Amino acid sequence: MDTQKTNKEQIWEEVLIEIEAIISKANFITWFQKTNLEKIENGIIFLNVPNSFTKEWIKNKYSKFIISVLRKINPKIRSIEYIICSNPQKSSFKNTFIKKPTKPKKLVQQNEEQISFKNLSKSKEILNPRYIFDSFIVGSFNELAHAAAKAVTKNPGLVYNPLFIYGGVGLGKTHLLQAIGNKIKEKNQNFQIQYTTLEKFANELVYSLQNNTIYEFKEKYKKNDLLIIDDIQFLPGKTKTQEELFHIFNTLYEKNKQIIFSSDRPPKSIPDLEARLRSRFEGGMMTDISEPEYEARIAILKSKIQNKNLNLPEEMIDYIASTIKNNVRELEGALNILSAQTKLLGKNLSLNELKEVFNKNIIYSKKKISFKELIKIIAQFYNIEENSLFEKSRKKEYVLPRQIAMYLLREDFNGSYPYIGQKLGGRDHTTVMHAYLKISKDLKNNQQIKEDIKQIRDCLYV
Ligand code: ADP
Ligand code: MG
Repeated sequence: MDTQKTNKEQIWEEVLIEIEAIISKANFITWFQKTNLEKIENGIIFLNVPNSFTKEWIKNKYSKFIISVLRKINPKIRSIEYIICSNPQKSSFKNTFIKKPTKPKKLVQQNEEQISFKNLSKSKEILNPRYIFDSFIVGSFNELAHAAAKAVTKNPGLVYNPLFIYGGVGLGKTHLLQAIGNKIKEKNQNFQIQYTTLEKFANELVYSLQNNTIYEFKEKYKKNDLLIIDDIQFLPGKTKTQEELFHIFNTLYEKNKQIIFSSDRPPKSIPDLEARLRSRFEGGMMTDISEPEYEARIAILKSKIQNKNLNLPEEMIDYIASTIKNNVRELEGALNILSAQTKLLGKNLSLNELKEVFNKNIIYSKKKISFKELIKIIAQFYNIEENSLFEKSRKKEYVLPRQIAMYLLREDFNGSYPYIGQKLGGRDHTTVMHAYLKISKDLKNNQQIKEDIKQIRDCLYV
């Protein structure tokens, strides 16, 4: 296995080259630019990925493929373990990739400094200096969260404790959390600040239990003046983590130390969350970030365009803001694609060319999704057999996924009610209509369903 360890970059590069051949550039950039191979051990591939979202996506779509490529090198390979390394390196991968499409070598090299699994407990979670208030655009979608964050920087530990910010993926939670950390650090160098993600916190805890360093683990977190834990929606199923977090929380809270959490949903929608922890989360200030409105999207685009030194006429900015609505990360992604294309062609794109690029990279992938693929993704998402979406069973765990399938077939694929009914196990069109209306209503007042659909759509359309 040693030779594999030393050759891991080369191995991963081979896999990337094969993946690159079968997917679109945009997909490749989005999902693989911040991945690398940590190690191969006992037939298990340990893959570094930048976040849990990428993990789920790669896991669902590419794990089999990755394993099959790697088996050509080592037939003993059985499975993949994903290691989430947030704060990934800034990477010039996109440019490298566009210029030399068949050699994404830099990609691997640039990720070498990522946190390694072995050194997890010693790793220093640092604040990204890019995430500051100055570069954070405020609109009505994030106004409250922003105001609360600012207030916390002025009076840490005293005004809103804990501060709990929730909202969907790519809406600026991490940016805001880290902006608070950066601001407080700027004001007072001696302030002890710890930023981490829940995943990392949980991994560290496991490591410390295995290595008898639990005391050090507790100390590390209890000594802070400011503790920021990002993405705590991953608490379910982690009993020990919940317990430790509870104690750390109490210690800090009693000393008026500031604690900040983020999550993709409010505490009440996190399943299996211990009641005592939930009441702690809800005991301070809770505020959400919603999706940016048109004006905010324009403002965000303008600010990013300026940073990137791009030159875009108003009509193009308007086109992007009208086409990409879900979140800020997607807006950034669109600008990245645009900037890469501009470099590739060596000239500014016309509006028509821009539309073409978007159609190919973004909207095209939306149209290409087949009925089969939709079914597959929904089944995977809810961890059920594809067949159960067609069968008549009224079991709760099948009914919701089935209704969501109906909803998406109607909403995103413009299927007629009778057509959808027929496709999904020969059901009556009134059943489909009922499901469609029910889910439409749920989307307004059921955070869990809203999140589910969002994640499914993210998987479907990138
Ligand atoms: P989340 O943690 O909610 O998934 P991030 O904080 O990672 O989202 O934001 C995704 C990207 O969008 C980041 O590059 C971030 O800088 C940018 N971003 C998010 N919200 C804003 C905003 N209001 N103004 C400027 N950039 C933003
Ligand atoms: Mg985040």
